[in-house]
Amino acid sequence: MGKFVPLSIPNFEGNEKTYVDDALEQGWVSTGGAYITKLEQQLALFLHTQNVAACQSGTSALHLSLVEAGVKPDDVVLVPPLTFIAAVNPVKYQYATPVFIDCDDSFCMDPMKLRRFCEEECVFADGVLTYKGAAVKAVVVVHVFGNMADMESIMDTAETFRLKVIEDATEALGTYYTEGRYAGKYAGTIGDFGAYSFNGNKIITTGGGGAVTANTPEVVDHLRYLSTQAKNDPHYYIHDEVGYNYRMTNLQAALGVAQMEELPEFIRRKQENFDRYCRLFEGFSLVRMVPFRAGISSNKWFYSLEIDRDRVKASMRQIITTLEQRGVQTRAIWGLINEQLPYRAEDTYQLEKAPWYAHRILNIPCSTQITPEEIDWCAQQIKEVLTGFAG
Ligand SMILES: *Cc1c(COP(=O)(O)O)cnc(C)c1O
Repeated sequence: MGKFVPLSIPNFEGNEKTYVDDALEQGWVSTGGAYITKLEQQLALFLHTQNVAACQSGTSALHLSLVEAGVKPDDVVLVPPLTFIAAVNPVKYQYATPVFIDCDDSFCMDPMKLRRFCEEECVFADGVLTYKGAAVKAVVVVHVFGNMADMESIMDTAETFRLKVIEDATEALGTYYTEGRYAGKYAGTIGDFGAYSFNGNKIITTGGGGAVTANTPEVVDHLRYLSTQAKNDPHYYIHDEVGYNYRMTNLQAALGVAQMEELPEFIRRKQENFDRYCRLFEGFSLVRMVPFRAGISSNKWFYSLEIDRDRVKASMRQIITTLEQRGVQTRAIWGLINEQLPYRAEDTYQLEKAPWYAHRILNIPCSTQITPEEIDWCAQQIKEVLTGFAG
C-alpha cells in the first residue's frame, strides 16, 4: 500500500479507552449513567450556556427542536439548499414544508435574501407570517463547515417576523463571535435552539451522538424529557406527551467526555492546519482556499477549495478519483437538497450562490492527526492533478 491520507477520521489520543472501559465495568451502557450528565455539564461549560441535553444524534437534536418550536403539519420552515440533508429531513418528519433560501459566500444562509423572502413573498398579519396561506414557523440556520452564519441580521429578521431560530451547529462546536453584538457567543447558543452532532467525522465524536440546547434552561429540560420517551415518574410508567427514544447512551457519553477534554487541542490543530494549506495554495491560481467569516473564531472543522471552473473543466468525479489513486481522499461539497428526489417539488427562493458553489467546492484532508508533511504532500498532489486537468 502506498501513502493514503484520509479526508477526516476520528482521533482517540486521550482517555477514550479508560472511560469506555469504566462505563462497561460499571454496567451502565444504556440511556442512564454518570457519563451522560458529565458530558452535558462539560458542553454547557464549554458553550457558556446553562443547560444541554445529550441526544442520540444531531438529527434527533434537530427534530426535537422542531417539535419544541411547535412546527406542525403544513407549516413552512425556511431551510438551506447547500448542506447535509439531515438539516432538512426533520422538517419532513413533522409533515411540514421546507422552502429553500439561498446561501451567501460563507455557504450559510443569505440574511438579505431571508429578509427579502419574508417581506416580499409572505404576508405578516396578527403576529403570524404566512407563505401561500401556510404559517412560517421557523428557520433552520446551518453554520456550514464550522463557519458562522450572519446571526445579527438573521436574528433581527426572526424577531420582526416572529420566527423560531434553530441553529444547526452540528459542524461548528467551538465557533464563536469575537466581535459585534454577539461577541463571546458560541454557535448554537444565539437562536432559540442549537443542535450539535458527534458523528464519526465531526470535530469530536461519540460514534453516533449529538446534543441540543435552547435559550432557556427549562426548555432544555423539556427537550430531555421528550428524548426519554416523555416518562414522568421514576417508578411508574406515566407519560403526558408523545416522547422519543432520542437519548444518548452512557457508552457514547464516556467517549464524549474524553473527546471534550481534547476539543481545545483539536480546534487548535484544525486552525493551524488550515493556515498551512492557505500558505501552500497562495499564488496557485487554479484554486482558492475559502476563508471563514471575519469577526469570529471558527473551529475550522472542514476545509474548502474553490476550483476555477473556467480553467479546470474536469468533473468533480474525475478530480476525486484521480486524487484517490494518488492517495489523497477528497470529496465534493453536497448536492443541492432541493434537487434530491424527496424535495424536488418544494419551493426555492433566488438560488444563485448555492448552485454556483455546488459545482466548485472540493473538501480536502483535515483530520486532527494529519502531519505538516502530509499536508504539504496533499497540497502538492492537488496542484499537480488540477494543473493536469487545466486547459
Ligand atoms: C452531521 C450533520 C447533521 C446530522 O448529524 P448526525 O449526528 O449525523 O445525525 C446535521 N446537519 C449537518 C449540517 C451536519 O453536518
